[in-house]
Amino acid sequence: MNMDTRASVSIVRCESYEEAKLYEAVAQAAREGGMPDVAGKTILLKPNILSDSSPEDCITTNPEFVRATIKLLKNCGAKEIHVGDSPGLHSPTFEGKRCGIKDVCDQEGAIWEDFTKNPTEKPIKGTGRILPMASIIDKVDMVFSLCKFKTHQLMYTTGAVKNLFGMIPGLHKSACHVKCPNRESFAKLIVGIYETVKPAFCLMDAVIGMEGSGPANGTPRSVNLVLGSTNGIAMDWAQAVIMGYDPKQIPILKEAARRHLLPSVIDYPLLKADAVVVPDFQRIPIRENTQFIKTLILPFFTRGVQKKLQRREPKPLFDNSKCIRCLRCVNICPAKALTLSGDESAERRERHICADYSKCIRCYCCHEVCPVNAIKIEGKE
Ligand code: SF4
Ligand code: SF4
Repeated sequence: MNMDTRASVSIVRCESYEEAKLYEAVAQAAREGGMPDVAGKTILLKPNILSDSSPEDCITTNPEFVRATIKLLKNCGAKEIHVGDSPGLHSPTFEGKRCGIKDVCDQEGAIWEDFTKNPTEKPIKGTGRILPMASIIDKVDMVFSLCKFKTHQLMYTTGAVKNLFGMIPGLHKSACHVKCPNRESFAKLIVGIYETVKPAFCLMDAVIGMEGSGPANGTPRSVNLVLGSTNGIAMDWAQAVIMGYDPKQIPILKEAARRHLLPSVIDYPLLKADAVVVPDFQRIPIRENTQFIKTLILPFFTRGVQKKLQRREPKPLFDNSKCIRCLRCVNICPAKALTLSGDESAERRERHICADYSKCIRCYCCHEVCPVNAIKIEGKE
């Protein structure tokens, strides 16, 4: 814990995406959370568009939330507003249509950004790694993380910090899972990206969040809140509290603490996080029994033993009755652990997804991209 810092997280009640009420809530969260002066600034808004899905699925930041933020920034004198994200499977024509965010950009005069165009190489702080990143980062004065309140199979929660992983274009993200194959190393990378991007402000869409099997196949859950902070780590701490987690068990927050990025005090100028805990929120269970092994002992084991331990993590199970053979899971799997069975001349519906669990690194990218919830994360080998 950093002994010298304080951070403030504003938490505001908001029970719907109705335009006027949402604008009020976003404006109050921004004001009380200490949003910096944006007059004359060029700003990138980074919503969470994990997959281009309907707003009702609650996988993405709601388009009305993006609209409210654009309007607020314009009213505060921002010069130019850019909006963009890059899903794991980034098609060449992707522009946030289905989730409604591109239309909001067109209606409100914001500029949609294609993150895959001419990415720039960035050293990622504290990791020794260089990764491609959306080049718009070098053309704006400020980045705002417009995150969504959701659970996450691998990291337990996804909020202001994890949202910035989308600055890495397309499939470069799944390659990161091979380089950082466990929760601790992946958390190190994510916190490094957060430190590199350094968002000036974070706003969290927690009006309707996601519980259960997030970040893509969970259940929408009314949380009725909007959060604002200059500090994404403090915001994610508040989110963990609201979900009913012990924040000290969340890998990204543990890594932030290890790097002395966790503020010593979090102030809540409006609602307090522990006063708005969602009752019976469906959390991803913390895999505590592997934490000690992974953090302290695993690096000293041989690759073979490491793999064996990794295989004790829950694995993806494929439901052929639901699967529509879209092959998104096959295409995104960074470990090349998935194939489509059978003869290529056979009808697709007669073939099914085969997993080689000896190759699988339990990154759960397949689960994130499956459009029909045909993949469950459960069981041990
Ligand atoms: S099968 Fe799924 S969980 Fe396993 S490595 Fe591939 S994408 Fe990751
Ligand atoms: S992503 Fe889902 S629907 Fe598509 S092939 Fe894989 S399991 Fe089937």
